[in-house]
Amino acid sequence: MGSITRRSFLKLTGVALASSVMYEFVGQSPAMAAEAGQAYKLVDTQETTTICCYCSGGCGTIVSTRDGQLINIEGDPDHVINRGGLCSKGSSQFGVNSVYDDKTGERIINPNRLQKPRVRRAGKSEWEEISWEQAIDEIAAKVKKTRDDNYQTTDDNGVTVNRCEAIASLGAAALDNEEAYIVQKLARGLGITYVEHQARI
Ligand code: SF4
Repeated sequence: MGSITRRSFLKLTGVALASSVMYEFVGQSPAMAAEAGQAYKLVDTQETTTICCYCSGGCGTIVSTRDGQLINIEGDPDHVINRGGLCSKGSSQFGVNSVYDDKTGERIINPNRLQKPRVRRAGKSEWEEISWEQAIDEIAAKVKKTRDDNYQTTDDNGVTVNRCEAIASLGAAALDNEEAYIVQKLARGLGITYVEHQARI
C-alpha cells in the first residue's frame, strides 16, 4: 500500500468531511422540514422545579405545565445531584400522570393512577374510596389510640423511657430534606423510637 502524503491526507479528510456535511443536509432535511411546521411543545408552558418521585437519589426535574395540564418532565441541568440526567425510571415519570391509548393513540390520564385515598376494612376484600379529610381523621385516631394503648413511661428496670414501640415511621423518597425533618420531629414527639428513611435502606 502506497504511503499517504500530507496533501493526499488532507484531500481525503476533506472529501470525508464534505460527505458527512452532505449526509447531514440530505438526511435531516425532511425531519427539519416537519419540525418547522410544528409548534414547539414547550411554548407558553410554566416551568416548576421539583424532585423525582421514585428512589432516594433525589434527582432534580423540571415540570412544564400549560393551563394546569402536564406537558413535559425532564432532568434539571442546574440541579446539583443529577445535572440534568435522569435514569430510565426517572425518565418515565410522565407516565405517572398520562399514558397513550393503545387504540386511539390519544394521550389520556393514566387509568391506573389512584387519585383518592382508599381503605380496605378489616375482614373485607374490597377497597373503599374515602375523602382526604376522612383518611386523615381515621389515621390520626388510629395513631392516637395505638400510642395511648402502648405508651411506656419506664422500662422493666424502672428507668424512664417515655416511648411507644408499637409504631414505626418510614420516610419516602418523595420527601425532601425539610419534610423529612418535620416527619421525624412528629415521630419523636409521639415517642416513636423506630424512625427510618428510604435513603438509608
Ligand atoms: S431519576 Fe432515577 S436515580 Fe434519580 S431519583 Fe429518580 S429514580 Fe432515582
